[in-house]
Amino acid sequence: MHIDIVTLFPNMFRGPFEESILRRAQEMGALSIAIHDLRLFGVGKHRQVDDVPYGGSPGMLLRPEPIVAAVESILDRPVFRGAGETVDLSTLPPIILLTPQGRPLTQALVKELAQHPRLVLICGRYEGFDERVREFLATDEISIGDYVLSGGELAAMVLVDAVARVLPGVLGYERGAEEDSFASGLLEGPQYTRPPEFRGRRVPPILLSGHHERIAAWRREQALKRTRERRPDLLGPTARPEDAGDR
Ligand code: SAM
Repeated sequence: MHIDIVTLFPNMFRGPFEESILRRAQEMGALSIAIHDLRLFGVGKHRQVDDVPYGGSPGMLLRPEPIVAAVESILDRPVFRGAGETVDLSTLPPIILLTPQGRPLTQALVKELAQHPRLVLICGRYEGFDERVREFLATDEISIGDYVLSGGELAAMVLVDAVARVLPGVLGYERGAEEDSFASGLLEGPQYTRPPEFRGRRVPPILLSGHHERIAAWRREQALKRTRERRPDLLGPTARPEDAGDR
């Protein structure tokens, strides 16, 4: 998969994309990432990217021209659906605005995104985007949660990290992403490592028993219990919060 990221702050991506699983995903060729500096597409000799909102709201908004120019340069074709212009959306990679107004990023959406060979992510700043970017350039809008960040960069990093770990081969044999929380619709249950006893607190004996089937059944039971306790909403409308009490 290839991911293009349009941002006013390219340096923010340095550390997170150069460590651990994201680094390995790139080294093994499962993922490539290109960071594009929005400032280079700014308007005029000052390369302006923002301006005051019409109508007098506070703050600044990202202008449409630099963002459209950046994305059209990245994809090397017209992609803005201007009046009288047609763009065949089926031939475009998803062009995703990171915005608190977008659809929530869930594990199901992460898996859906991971099916695409290419994604374009656009990071907002200031008070966000001119509405024409949303309407006539973006093909999707994604939020990482019901809170407001200062910019889309951290949101883009979260999205890239979540997508990278479900790409085939990226986690290797270390661990299956299918055991993670949300993958099966449940939270993951408790996990333990050495030592078997720490300051009087023991690892549940079943995990040391070597009975793989019983261990799998225990894990499933614990995952259900934890999900009932913490996120009964994941179990659907029939699961009542009172069910969380059956410990
Ligand atoms: N005025 C905007 C609004 O109320 O929707 C918020 C703008 S926010 C200060 C600046 C940028 O941060 C946004 O354009 C977006 O790119 C990013 N951002 C903030 N919160 C986000 C979230 N929860 N998910 C994804 N991106 C977010």
